[in-house]
This record gives sequence, structure tokens and C-alpha cells, in this order.
Amino acid sequence: MKISFFGAAGEVTGSQHLIETDRLRVLLDCGLFQGHRAESRRKNEVFHCHPKDLSGVILSHAHTDHCGNLPGLYKAGYRGPIFCTPATAHVAEIMMSDSAHIQQEDAKYLRRKLGPGHPPVEPLYDDDDVAGIVSNFETIPYGEWHELSNDFRLRFADAGHILGSAISEMEIREKGTWRRVVFTGDLGRRGLPLLRDPQQVEGCDVLITESTYGHRVHPPADDIKQHLKRILKRAAENESRVVIPAFSLGRTQTLVYFLNQLFNSRELPDIPIFVDSPLSREITSVYREHGNVMDHEFQKELRSDRDPFSFANLRYIGSQQESMALNHRKGAFVVIAASGMCEAGRVVHHLRHAISNPKNIIVMIGFQAQHTLGRKLVDKWRTVKIFDRQIELNADVESLQGLSAHADTHDFKWWFDGLAKDRGVGKAFVVHGEPESAKALSEMLHDYSDEPAVVPKLGESFDV
Ligand SMILES: [Zn+2]
Repeated sequence: MKISFFGAAGEVTGSQHLIETDRLRVLLDCGLFQGHRAESRRKNEVFHCHPKDLSGVILSHAHTDHCGNLPGLYKAGYRGPIFCTPATAHVAEIMMSDSAHIQQEDAKYLRRKLGPGHPPVEPLYDDDDVAGIVSNFETIPYGEWHELSNDFRLRFADAGHILGSAISEMEIREKGTWRRVVFTGDLGRRGLPLLRDPQQVEGCDVLITESTYGHRVHPPADDIKQHLKRILKRAAENESRVVIPAFSLGRTQTLVYFLNQLFNSRELPDIPIFVDSPLSREITSVYREHGNVMDHEFQKELRSDRDPFSFANLRYIGSQQESMALNHRKGAFVVIAASGMCEAGRVVHHLRHAISNPKNIIVMIGFQAQHTLGRKLVDKWRTVKIFDRQIELNADVESLQGLSAHADTHDFKWWFDGLAKDRGVGKAFVVHGEPESAKALSEMLHDYSDEPAVVPKLGESFDV
């Protein structure tokens, strides 16, 4: 068997790994590389996995860096099945459509900017490619074995990372011998709201594990609700505008769920709350439909509250006019909008209208990459540039940590303990992490695997 790493190798975007046997070629994930425009474009356009010759694709979850280049794969000629959980199929379709929309808008903008003399800029893929790939999705519920062929079976375990996320357990026969390969996808954390804890699975001959936070310990998620309550109370007293930049998938639903709990326990101050993102609204309705795969606490909540993503003070905003009307709204209110790192989306407009007033509060959640507007806000720069204008940052900036959806050092150790309980790990590959965290995790794996763990480089292949 041969395994090749065509993405998320020594970095965190563009997840794509290929398993080849004498009979089959199966791709794990087909994510979008994200980063600088020209470099990402080059990486996203070229497929090293020979799309037309693939036997199947296994999709771990619906984050864009895992599913976002599936339409590109369709455009390059792939017409076979994509296996994932039902919730992932649902969310991935929304995420890929959103991505196609961004690609098309981007191409239009570049065409205008470069002018008529320049060769036309085409989007990476379009809505037709999304529709094409979606028609080939085949869903498999958690816990059920599915035969891709006589020599390849697959079962999904809950990864506890986002709605629908899965750990892939694969049993592959080559030259008469069955071997077990486990791919973590993105591994979640224990104790996160809404989601079930990641499931421990039996050991394997080959492990492919993510390592995003292999070198870190996260603060607990429990304090966030109380912190939010204090911020909202202060906002009500001072008539503040509160802006919360949040990713549409995962983060927004968790926030709304917390606020709903505060509302139910009558701890929420009486101020209006707006979720200003059509994408968040759409994804939230998918969360409602897949309540059966949420955690025990959510199931309990459902008995007394039919919709934990809605309460009297909350409104989901769709139209741009309604969004713009918030800019002139008086009195205290909260607006939750994407994108999470403030690089694009409606939140940028809300920040522009909020940050110069010292009464207002900006609530930043989780990791902010270097050079993003979000990072500058967390670092409390005196002025920041928004839409080509320098604006003074006078608003209060509060940072909430503890909502990361990725396993930390303790979670990995706990999960590897489960893996090693009855049988160990033969060989391990560490992907999806910056060099420092990948190294930390490969060192941790010394205690679990027969051979030293490998941190593959982009494009490297291994016979296993
Ligand atoms: Zn993810």
C-alpha cells in the first residue's frame, strides 16, 4: 500500500491524502488551500492524485480546508462517489456553494481590475461543478461498516470537531491480508458544547493524525458563558454596541446556544441580539435537522426547548438593507457576524461603525492569524485600517478563549490511549499542523507506535 500527502503536510490547509493499493485509489479529503491568492490558486488548480483514476473519495468533515476543492476535482474529471456522514453532506454542500460564490465574485473583481487587455480570469470552479459533485455524495451514518469494494471497507466514528465530523476507520485487503488504517480528520475536544466527545477507536496498522494543537493546552470552555453574561450586562448598562466576529460554521451556533441557555435561565440582559449572516442562518437550520447526533446535554435541552437556536431577543438577518440599518441603530445591541478573523464579510462593516466609540465592546473569540484585522484588534492597535481608512480603536476589546474545536495535548493523549488499549499503532503519519505542533505530536506518538512517527512533506509518498 502506498500513501501520498498532497496537502495539509507541514501546514493546516488543503487537506488531501491518497491511499493506493494494487486495486484501488482512494482520496482522503479534498480541501482548499487558503492563503496568498496567487500561491493558493496555483496549488488548488493542479491535482497530483489523477482525479479520473480515483476509485473513491472519503470526506472527513465540511470545513473548507477539507471539502472546498471537491468541485475542482469534479471539474478535473472525477465522477466517482464521495463518502461522508449525512450531516457532513448537508453542510459541505452549503460551504462549497458559498466558496463557489466567492470564487466567482473574485474572478469578476480581478477581471475588472486587470482590464480588457488581460486574458480573462476564470473562477477556480462554479455552481455547476458544485451541483455535479453533490450529486455523487453517498452518505454513511456513524458506526456502520460500508463496503467500497470487496477489498475496502469503511466506518465512521464521531470526531467531535464540528457537526458531522468523522474519524475514518478503514480495513483494506492487499495480497490477501487485511490491514487497518485510521484517519482522524480533524479531531475535536472533550467537553465542547453541542458536540459529542470524540470517539475512541481500536488500534491500527497505519494512523494518519492531525496535529493542529498538538503542542497546546486549551482553557476550559465552561467559563465562556459567564464571561459573555458579564459583557452583555455591561453593554446593557452603558448602551454599548457589541460586535462579535464569528465563523459561520460551528462558532456561531455555539454562541447562540450559550445565549439561549442564558435566556432560558433568565440571566440574559434584555438587549436585542442579531446574527447577521445568511450563511450562518443556513448552517444553523442544518444543525436543527441533525439534533440526533448532538451531545446528551443538547438532547436534554430539547425536552424543554424545542429550538435551542432561537429565543425572543434573537433575530437572524438576511438582507443587506437590514444589515446596513444596524449601523444607525441606537441603544445597546449585539451583532454576531462572519468572518471570524474579520478579513471579509459583514462584520467588517459593523467593526467600522463600532470601534472608534469607547462605549462599544468587540468580543474576539479564539485564534486570530497573523496580519489579519482580527489579530490587530486582539493586540489592541491604536488605529486599524478598514476599507482604506485608518480608524482609531477606542472600543473595549474582550478576548474569549476556550472554544477551539481541535484536540489539545491532553485530548490527543487520551485518544491515543484508547487507540493503544488493545493493539497499538504500527506506523503513524502526522499531518495538518504547523511544524512545531506536528513535531510535538510525533514525539508523543513514540509511546504508542512501533516506528517513529513521520511528519510528511508536501508531495511525499510512503510504502507502508
Ligand atoms: Zn476542521
